Amino acid sequence: STFDEGNLHPMIRENVKLARYSTPTPVQKYSIPIITEGYDLMACAQTGSGKTAAFLVPILSNLFERAKKLAISRPPGGRGRGKVEPLVLILAPTRELATQIFDECRRFTYKTMMRPCVVYGGADVRTQRMELSKGCDVLTATPGRLNDFLNRTVISLSRVKYLVLDEADRMLDMGFETEIRKIVQKSDLREDGTRQTLMFSATFPKKIQELARDFLSKTHVFLT
Ligand code: AMP
Repeated sequence: STFDEGNLHPMIRENVKLARYSTPTPVQKYSIPIITEGYDLMACAQTGSGKTAAFLVPILSNLFERAKKLAISRPPGGRGRGKVEPLVLILAPTRELATQIFDECRRFTYKTMMRPCVVYGGADVRTQRMELSKGCDVLTATPGRLNDFLNRTVISLSRVKYLVLDEADRMLDMGFETEIRKIVQKSDLREDGTRQTLMFSATFPKKIQELARDFLSKTHVFLT
């Protein structure tokens, strides 16, 4: 099995090749067609399983397919003056994980017009805000700092088409449940009901099952 099977956009396939990923890992094999076809997903996956590419590759492929319709290409001067309106939002528990996800975003958006950004706590707000103002299609964020930006009305979640909760169990352990629920509510403002939601978690306790029940619909489940 390779990344050439399935309906991935040629540009994204090219970037997968550049990353030297030749064989999909089990979670990638399962997730890529499910996500490409538009289903929600609850996946049990550990760090090191390739879970980041498992959601990024199909999301970016779908997004790039719809790039014209979604008006991803920025007008001259960027979106600097208005609110930042990402199309993809990835929530992660820590700065380290958010940075790793952002690095993979950069890899897979290479030579596409999609622009990734990352925001996390414990770092300068102004620098992150400046990066955001250059445009942000794919945002990776820790919950606290994202809510900070939402409260300052720097970011709007009204255009989010893909919402990913990565290491959901760890986010709950760190006490982020209220923050996460606030964020999901704000990304729920879509009028056309097209948001796709993906949850990744190393463990699958009752609390995670509850979140999955609350946030996901038309769900496929990958258990290891
Ligand atoms: P993750 O579980 O997403 O943190 O990924 C763990 C590591 O495996 C990262 O360094 C990825 O770059 C790498 N990786 C992910 N998928 C593949 C693949 N299909 N082939 C080779 N390396 C991969």
